[in-house]
Amino acid sequence: MRTERGKLFVVSGPSGAGKSTVIARVMAARDDLAFSVSATTRGPRDGEIHGINYFFIDHKCFDEMIANDEFLEYAEYVTNFYGTPRQAVMDKLASGMNVLLDIEVQGAAQVRERMPEAVTIFLTPASFTDLEQRLRNRHQDSEEMIQSRLERAKSEYRAAESYDYIVINDDPDVAANELNSIITAELCRTVERIKYLEV
Ligand code: 5GP
Repeated sequence: MRTERGKLFVVSGPSGAGKSTVIARVMAARDDLAFSVSATTRGPRDGEIHGINYFFIDHKCFDEMIANDEFLEYAEYVTNFYGTPRQAVMDKLASGMNVLLDIEVQGAAQVRERMPEAVTIFLTPASFTDLEQRLRNRHQDSEEMIQSRLERAKSEYRAAESYDYIVINDDPDVAANELNSIITAELCRTVERIKYLEV
């Protein structure tokens, strides 16, 4: 059963919270949910594919997209820019598809402002030590980058209270199940379903 217009889900959480794994599991489990592919000025990591994980673009192109008002939201995160291309999200929502954004907290605040009906979920590891361990274990970033990401995580934690839900990622299966359940419950809200009771 699909709603006429899709619902927007926003997932944020510190880098290293295991967001990508949890989101990938939820995406694989649902055919009513589309992932919004962001644009970024960051270079691709091993295995990342242009158009699937991100649109990897240069600063000039990013600035043009800002000037043309092509972003639903955008933010600078640890020296790189990230933004959600607006049109793709709007088209999917209009077609009845639900859309999930994986964005950091400043971007989520912009979305909340522009689309207050969006459902926001903060995904976090069980502890700060756990977060540091995850960032080191993935061997993706320099020490400087890890320190910047940890500093950033502290301010992200302070933003968590503005979210509708908090998922603690101790175990990716449990966290994926929780995120999936939140999405299902939101789609079952009376406001979404009452139209089916018309006689
Ligand atoms: P990473 O470089 O680890 O892929 O992402 C760094 C941070 O940028 C993550 O917290 C991720 O959620 C966030 N991010 C990814 N895409 C977007 C976007 O389009 N907008 C904003 N504001 N943040 C994003």
